[in-house]
Amino acid sequence: MPEDVAMDKGGEIETFAFQAEIAQLMSLIVNTFYSNKEVFIRELISNASDALDKIRYESLTDPSKLDSGKELCMTIIPNKNDRTLTFRDYGIGMTKADMVNNLGTIAKSGTKAFMEALQAGADISMIGQFGVGFYSAYLVADVVTVISKHNDDEQYIWESSAGGSFTISHDKGEPLGRGTKIILHMKEDQAEYLQESRIKDIVKKHSQFIGYPIKLVVEKERDKELSEDEDDEEKKDDEEKDEDKDEDKPKIEDVGADEESEDKPKPEKKKKKTIKEKYTDEEELNKMKPIWTRNPEEITEEEYGEFYKSLTNDWEVHLAVKHFSVEGQLEFRTLLFIPRRAPFDLFESKKKKNNIKLYVRRVFIMDNCDELIPEYLNFIRGVVDSEDLPLNISREMLQQNKILKVIRKNLVKKCLELFEELAEDKENYKKCYEQFSKNLKLGIHEDSQNRKKLSELLRYHTSASGDEMCSLKDYVERMKENQKHIYYITGESKEQVANSSFVESVKKRGFEVIYMIDPIDEYVVQQLREFDNKTLVSVTKEGLELPEDEAEQKKREEDKAKFENLCKVMKDILDKKVEKVVVSNRLVDSPCCIVTSQYGWTANMERIMKAQALRDTSTMGYMAAKKHLEINSDHPIMENLRQKAEADKHDKSVKDLVMLLFETALLSSGFALEDPQVHASRIYRMIKLGLGFDDDEVIVEEEKVDSKEFPMEDDVEEASRMEEVD
Ligand code: ADP
Repeated sequence: MPEDVAMDKGGEIETFAFQAEIAQLMSLIVNTFYSNKEVFIRELISNASDALDKIRYESLTDPSKLDSGKELCMTIIPNKNDRTLTFRDYGIGMTKADMVNNLGTIAKSGTKAFMEALQAGADISMIGQFGVGFYSAYLVADVVTVISKHNDDEQYIWESSAGGSFTISHDKGEPLGRGTKIILHMKEDQAEYLQESRIKDIVKKHSQFIGYPIKLVVEKERDKELSEDEDDEEKKDDEEKDEDKDEDKPKIEDVGADEESEDKPKPEKKKKKTIKEKYTDEEELNKMKPIWTRNPEEITEEEYGEFYKSLTNDWEVHLAVKHFSVEGQLEFRTLLFIPRRAPFDLFESKKKKNNIKLYVRRVFIMDNCDELIPEYLNFIRGVVDSEDLPLNISREMLQQNKILKVIRKNLVKKCLELFEELAEDKENYKKCYEQFSKNLKLGIHEDSQNRKKLSELLRYHTSASGDEMCSLKDYVERMKENQKHIYYITGESKEQVANSSFVESVKKRGFEVIYMIDPIDEYVVQQLREFDNKTLVSVTKEGLELPEDEAEQKKREEDKAKFENLCKVMKDILDKKVEKVVVSNRLVDSPCCIVTSQYGWTANMERIMKAQALRDTSTMGYMAAKKHLEINSDHPIMENLRQKAEADKHDKSVKDLVMLLFETALLSSGFALEDPQVHASRIYRMIKLGLGFDDDEVIVEEEKVDSKEFPMEDDVEEASRMEEVD
């Protein structure tokens, strides 16, 4: 930043360059054709309200902080003559450093995110959600002057006409006491925002629920009785300049002048004259009682929507709302909202922790009280107003506060109720689920007390659900009589898991498989072991038990014995690459697959963990999926291989084929190959064989493999088709 500072000749005005992204954003705001400019009023009011919140909070522990100005309010001052619109607040103000940092040199993540959103078709009115609302002033102003006084610093002026730079200077003008004055020098064609009625409408529309008085300086006229002296003065004035057109001058209105005539004798008591006099007054624009203190039955959906918008800077109304009060030993009132969309920075760790504003007896305390609501519900917006907490409660006190624990428990309970209610309306719930399913799943992972309730809110695609998603309850209702478990598969995409060989035989038996394709699902199933007394069983893990009849059981025992030798040979060849090789009960069309041990990672989890940057590689070692190779005893490839191994277990081609099968199974089971080159060269050798030539000495001499022994894909398909017919 210091490089950007260029001292003015006088040494008093410092010039700063805007941070590159901010400059870009400002030029976008200045140059984009956009008609809905009125949002700048909402943004500046919202900033003023935040600044008032901050000083009010500080004053709770140190009342002297209010000494420089006790009134907590803001004023809007239109001035048609100067074509300026001024927003004055008595909030916390900004130090010089605050101005430099917050108004130009430090970009927030929202700066870039907002520009990207704009490019993707977002609307400029969404600016507040991205935390860069201040710059909306440039929608209507070509120059913006910010004068601010913070308790800890002197008064400074910030000024910029966009164009890449701003200036800061020490202000020796009229002292503000404390707070901020933002003067917008309006563009020529934006004078409409100086009209009282326009400002009133906009404030009513966007900011009626702001918790501090918003005052508008208005021009009014009143009758003024003139005293005799003044009357004479006026008359003289009038005679002097008959054509006085200055509107600001009081006009004389001769009340009852007709009755007076020069000829008549002067009455004893001269009738008083009145004039219309212009004066300025302040009008409070938001006299509403806080909405959460009102009776829910008397509040309309529109009012909730307007309140939600002013609370959150969202441009759309909420998806669902819950308004309730708790009475008895503890008393508090609450309004909770589910937004329609997840904010752009929902899972950003630096973001402020939650979005519930805490009030104590109508006084705003803070909006990032960690203890109020668990992290997984951090997308819920709203207000909690407690009657019992002390006003001067500090952050540290809040951490152990029992009252807060009770409030938190209630909030979670009510949030879950809200979801349950929403879930009854399929369409709306779908919208909510698209946005916040990750949060619910995080809840399953974190909130053991409410895990059961949360699990009822989950929705998944399954092998039987088609395009719709279904609940675990739906799944259980559809379960076959002989089905004991809930089957699921985790993976990267719906297509990938639907076509996976693991799902084959489960589906073939008429059982439904749940497709879990969100990375967080891996964490869900770590905690959610059962639903409705049915265990959740992964079809990609070892020990998958599918109901078998006697004949099937008998056949499997026989196959086990028959393939015992091959399994041993294969395990010797693969050595440490797999834990064991066994005959499978889950395969239909594929010759083999890799399953993972009950407590290790799945292939999908291994993929997720590898993808996480900066991961400590040492955990990869012991947590990495423990692999079991399962072979399909009905598959011609396996049968062929069995015979080959039976004939000569040291057959070189058996080793090569086993490696090839293993690597292919890894791929089709969702693992990545450690050495794709080796696999590729094996495949090339196969292709040569398929084409009827082989120049690889080692294999040519020893193997003389013909195409029947080594079925190409067509043959495999052919074989499995026959199998299906069987
Ligand atoms: P935010 O969403 O953080 O309000 P803005 O771009 O609207 O983003 O404002 C940037 C920062 O400038 C604010 O975070 C605040 O620190 C400061 N600021 C803006 N307006 C005021 C004000 N009226 N009083 C004090 N600080 C203000």
